[in-house]
Amino acid sequence: MSSATTPRPWRRRLLRGSLGVLALLGVLIGIAVVNTLTTRSQQIEVEAFEPLPVDDAEAIGRLSEAIRIPTISPEDPADFDPAPFISFHALLERSFPLVHAQLEREVVSDYSLMYRWQGADPNAAPIILTAHMDVVPVSDPAVWSHPPFAAEQAEGFLWGRGTMDDKGALMAILEAAEAMLAAGITPPRTVYLCFGHDEELQGTGTGAVEMAKLLHARGVEAEFVLDEGTGITVGLFPAVDQPVAVIGLSEKGSATIELVVELEGGHSSAPPDQTAVGILAAAVARVEAEQLPGSLDGPFRQTLATIGPEMHGPLKLVATNLWLFAPIMTRALLAAPTTASSVRTTTAVTVIEGGVKANVLPTRARALVNHRINAGDTVEGVVAHVRDAVDDPRVQVTLVVGNDVPRISDAEAPAFTTIARALREVNPEVLVAPGLFVAAADARHYVGVAEQVYRLSAFFITKQDVPRYHGIDERLALDQYAGMIQFYGRIMQAP
Ligand SMILES: [Zn+2]
Repeated sequence: MSSATTPRPWRRRLLRGSLGVLALLGVLIGIAVVNTLTTRSQQIEVEAFEPLPVDDAEAIGRLSEAIRIPTISPEDPADFDPAPFISFHALLERSFPLVHAQLEREVVSDYSLMYRWQGADPNAAPIILTAHMDVVPVSDPAVWSHPPFAAEQAEGFLWGRGTMDDKGALMAILEAAEAMLAAGITPPRTVYLCFGHDEELQGTGTGAVEMAKLLHARGVEAEFVLDEGTGITVGLFPAVDQPVAVIGLSEKGSATIELVVELEGGHSSAPPDQTAVGILAAAVARVEAEQLPGSLDGPFRQTLATIGPEMHGPLKLVATNLWLFAPIMTRALLAAPTTASSVRTTTAVTVIEGGVKANVLPTRARALVNHRINAGDTVEGVVAHVRDAVDDPRVQVTLVVGNDVPRISDAEAPAFTTIARALREVNPEVLVAPGLFVAAADARHYVGVAEQVYRLSAFFITKQDVPRYHGIDERLALDQYAGMIQFYGRIMQAP
């Protein structure tokens, strides 16, 4: 007998094993394909609604006045100028007389504004709409296509600092409230409008903190808070033709970690093998090499699961079968920085300093590492990870400042449906999905006074619009403002 015609026993076992693996793979792919073919859209069906009567041109005029007041949160809080904020308050009083006659209004933390509008049903939990009146500074007005505080209209847009972030939302909320009052509509639920004046101070602001404290002290337990978030994205999701609005259930946390090396100095003619700069550089290289692992768990997985049924092509097969493809998907997303940030805690070495003179050994070298923390990771865990990566007792690793990921809100809650419905009533072509907001906003301060905290901006943005936030040529499409007003109107009228 020759081995060519009759397989040896071990070969037979291997063959049988391979066939088993192939069969299992076939079954898994079969299940995946069936899943993809039977998957259904999770989007809410909506009907036409009666829009609030608003003169859109006049509303744009009021927003333009708001943009022309430079309510700047300066880089250094000591440079704060209160005058524009006082003008801004006066503009609101002039622009929205019914709101100021019929709602209770309080000035909190000097320049923030909190309004209370008694709802028809005293037993229903109130809702909180927030926005901020301050804007980031403009470093070089000359590079803008239109001056940042002129509110010029051109090419179908209103140009200016604050149009997107966040005066557009603030003014749209008040337009909706004013229109409801004019039409004699009382909101079913009590509505709080909380407008902070220092959101852009990057964590040192007090406006939202103090308003949340006041609400807490008064026993307010709101059904939800809606704050700014990602806009309605156009073309940002692959394999989806429609715009996608991602309602932020939470936001990324953050941690800034300091690495310090301190050594005895001396003349550079007789140096040790490594100076403080060399030791620090090696530590920084290790921190960059040992990135935190990626994971699809958390709100981003919910985004994919909700958008999956709306996709086409091979990506639909992947997104509707994350039970099978999550590891492949995670690896694919980690391959590019823009998508990697949605599946892992990011690491960015942002500052390095050390040494004073070419012929003097440095006694001290210092680096700062900035992390944006993904759902599932913690500040404490990130510090431990960096300490492990550095793995050198000569490098001191210290947390400078850290915020954990705020509580993750529920995408199944009725309040989520309220917001999703309002958005689709106004923009029926838009897909709505839960997700994680990748920036930070005032929303996190309200976690203690509301069951759910959501983040969403109700205007459309493309990939090209993303750098306009805090950048140059911030602008809002004129034809979208009416939709924003109606969106907030639908929310305040929701049961
Ligand atoms: Zn903002």
